[in-house]
Amino acid sequence: MSEETLQFRNPEQAEQLADRLEALMVEVDGPVNLMHVCGSHEQAIAKFGLRSMLPDGLSLRMGPGCPVCVTNMPEVDEAVAVANQGAIVATYGDMFRVPGTKQSLADARADGADVEIVYSASEAVELAEENPDEEVVFFATGFETTAAPTAAILVDDPPENFWVLSAHKYVPPAMEVVAEMPDTDIDGFLAAGHAATITGYGLFEPFVEEYEIPVVVGGFEPIDVMLGIERLLEYISEDVAGLENAYPRCVTREGNRAALETMWSVFEKTSGEWRGIAEIPGANLALREEYADYDARERFDVEPETGGPDPLTEQCVCGDIMAGKADPDECDLFGEECTPGNPVGACMVSSEGTCKIWHEYGGHPDL
Ligand code: SF4
Ligand code: SF4
Repeated sequence: MSEETLQFRNPEQAEQLADRLEALMVEVDGPVNLMHVCGSHEQAIAKFGLRSMLPDGLSLRMGPGCPVCVTNMPEVDEAVAVANQGAIVATYGDMFRVPGTKQSLADARADGADVEIVYSASEAVELAEENPDEEVVFFATGFETTAAPTAAILVDDPPENFWVLSAHKYVPPAMEVVAEMPDTDIDGFLAAGHAATITGYGLFEPFVEEYEIPVVVGGFEPIDVMLGIERLLEYISEDVAGLENAYPRCVTREGNRAALETMWSVFEKTSGEWRGIAEIPGANLALREEYADYDARERFDVEPETGGPDPLTEQCVCGDIMAGKADPDECDLFGEECTPGNPVGACMVSSEGTCKIWHEYGGHPDL
């Protein structure tokens, strides 16, 4: 591990920050609910036991921060439908076992469909090049960090047997929905550093202004997370809705302009359902008309018969978890009917899903 990384894991500094958080909570004099919007933040928090270092009254919740978790069941159904029509479906590993209404892609493969796991959009293109007589569909999921590389592939003249089934999502409108939920009482957001490397932290300026909630962009080492929480508590204690970049070694105000330009030249924002949360205007990324030739929804029948909801999924509280209203161990199915080996909801599938992370680290609320 590099020296640079180690300095962000310094236990003494973490203790000092924990003391500082105690002092700030005394100043605030009341409960504080913070939300982070990133599966990688939840992983860091669980792995390093950061919740156990937080003062009483400070709650840290996970929002809609994992693109796998918010991929809607009908989107999985579309991918399964394409696979069942004979195309090779390429997808990220985390999507493989996410249940649709009838089947997951893993089920479809068990029934004979050709589903391949890839680590990047360019690997999906390689698959198309290696199989010129087959139709290859990339089931493209993820936020800005993966939408930008998908876009880069499409502007680079991909092979004719390559299509994209876009389930890409755009985070800022989802934060607005959470901020507007009457029963979600969030005092500050810790925004995802990865996504901000692409979008820039300036993206959150209108949000902070409109909702008067502080936002701090944070990195993923323990000190990064503690620092982000400290900055949020400072804003809250001063009653200021500020915006700060606590991840300057990777994030700038403008972000990666070239990647953004490519992304917006290929995708446009549409309204779409985020699993368990809501129909969110402007939070799905669909291919623009100019890229219709690569759009799997144009080439394949993506609306075949789908299943009805599994009675167990009706008990799944993924939506409440991602809206900051429940913790995984409040779900009756957690660790019983729902486990990583037999997931009922998407939050138990993805390595960035809160239920999977909590299950992996013992299922205790003060991870
Ligand atoms: S895609 Fe990246 S930024 Fe978004 S939730 Fe996952 S790790 Fe965080
Ligand atoms: S434990 Fe399973 S069923 Fe319960 S909320 Fe999490 S993913 Fe859904």
